[in-house]
Amino acid sequence: MIHLENIIALWFVTLPKTGDYLAALLRNKDGGCELKLRLREYCQGPDGKGPGRCSCEDTKHWYHVKQGNFTEEQMIESARSVALSIQKQYGGEYCERHRKGLSVEDFVEVLNELPYFTVKKVQIRGATIH
Ligand SMILES: [Zn+2]
Repeated sequence: MIHLENIIALWFVTLPKTGDYLAALLRNKDGGCELKLRLREYCQGPDGKGPGRCSCEDTKHWYHVKQGNFTEEQMIESARSVALSIQKQYGGEYCERHRKGLSVEDFVEVLNELPYFTVKKVQIRGATIH
């Protein structure tokens, strides 16, 4: 789960017929940052022929990348470079949004304006992405 009140920036890549990839750079308690990555895989159906033909829950894999000795700028560069290489490999769409000075409410609006979040709108209440 990603708490949007801590978000600095977000990357989203569609993986056509496969799922999607999401990376969120989050402010942590020490004032540093960390990356949370979520890879979603659609169910390919009982015969494995493709998604959208059953009501299975998507499989979500979560990964966590600590800041270590990297600067925030380096974390941004590396999140961007990973997302771009995934985009290149899968031929999907790439999207990058930085929160800058926006409130959670305004950033949620930015996310909901993206085509990727329209089906299941990001909720302002709790302001989380699952
Ligand atoms: Zn299924």
